[in-house]
Amino acid sequence: MNLPQIGIVRNGFQVPENPEIMKAQESIIEVFDEFAGGLFKIELSDYIEIYFQFHKADGYRLKTHTFTGEYKGVFSTRSPRRPSGIGSTMVKLVKRDGNKLTVSGLDALDGSPVVDIKPVYIPFSDEELSEHNIDNRKMNPRKEVMSNIWANKMDLLMLNAAQIHGHFCPGLAMGVMMATKAMQMIRGQSDGMEDLLAIVETNNCVSDGIQFVTGCTFGNNALIFKDWGKTAFTLTKRDGRGIRISSRADAKAYMRMTNPLFSGSYKKVVGEQDHSDEEIARFKKLGVEKAFVTLHLDFEKLYNIEEVNVEVPPYAPSHESFVCGKCGEPVMATRIVNTEGQQFCIPCSGGEGKILTGNGIH
Ligand SMILES: [Zn+2]
Ligand SMILES: [Zn+2]
Repeated sequence: MNLPQIGIVRNGFQVPENPEIMKAQESIIEVFDEFAGGLFKIELSDYIEIYFQFHKADGYRLKTHTFTGEYKGVFSTRSPRRPSGIGSTMVKLVKRDGNKLTVSGLDALDGSPVVDIKPVYIPFSDEELSEHNIDNRKMNPRKEVMSNIWANKMDLLMLNAAQIHGHFCPGLAMGVMMATKAMQMIRGQSDGMEDLLAIVETNNCVSDGIQFVTGCTFGNNALIFKDWGKTAFTLTKRDGRGIRISSRADAKAYMRMTNPLFSGSYKKVVGEQDHSDEEIARFKKLGVEKAFVTLHLDFEKLYNIEEVNVEVPPYAPSHESFVCGKCGEPVMATRIVNTEGQQFCIPCSGGEGKILTGNGIH
């Protein structure tokens, strides 16, 4: 097989960069004179597909790490090290100047030989990035989350929650379920200003689902952590009338029963330390399945719900900061240690303070 080269890519990228950075720049595709007739009416297409050669790739790898850190077979990635050496990318056609096409969204290096160009009829919409939409999100960054809560779209909520959690698991699903229910019950709205507070009783996967759905987070001081090791959380407004949702004692057995395959794989991977590629892949796949199955289990069989009265802490104060006399870094006033007339930060005073790790606060 012998593919003709019809043109060449011109841009500022001599070496591979993060594809997202490359795609943000414009490239020019210069089509050779003898093929320029083939561009007739191409400007009618908003999006075109560019097929090009990865001319700087050295050979191929059948299994490879992607830019996002996943380990996969080459045919399930967009890696340049592939047997054909051919890349394809959908780009936006910005303008045509004779035989020169200006495009955005291309992730090919400067000098890449172009082998083909085709129009695309199923363009992604620009609507997502329209100014109207961005303005809307500036007014209310949690609009999408809130509408998903009211519409009880827990699959969507978990898909988005996994962006901070990193994986899908039954724990994340439980956090999403508990938080969605509590938000619906107390008609919660969170703008991250501590008018809505979440009190979690454990630091594990569950609490990420709760942080995402309630908007009460570590960073906005609306998340309170009680190191009690219980799958339970309370959602309250500032009047202290809250809802506490806790896992039932027989919830685990019910969950195991609904997805026995995952339990078997869990035993192998975690219990028997079977870390073979096959078992790990199976474990992850089953974990995703179990997470989505869990979302739709009978709520009453998994959790107890109670109304509670909460003593709501005052709004987190804003503190002055001082400069540590030793390291010179600014420190919140309440964390300053006074020693021999000097002000130090905790580590410079020889202390460790309180630390939250996977083992809790210590
Ligand atoms: Zn998890
Ligand atoms: Zn210091």
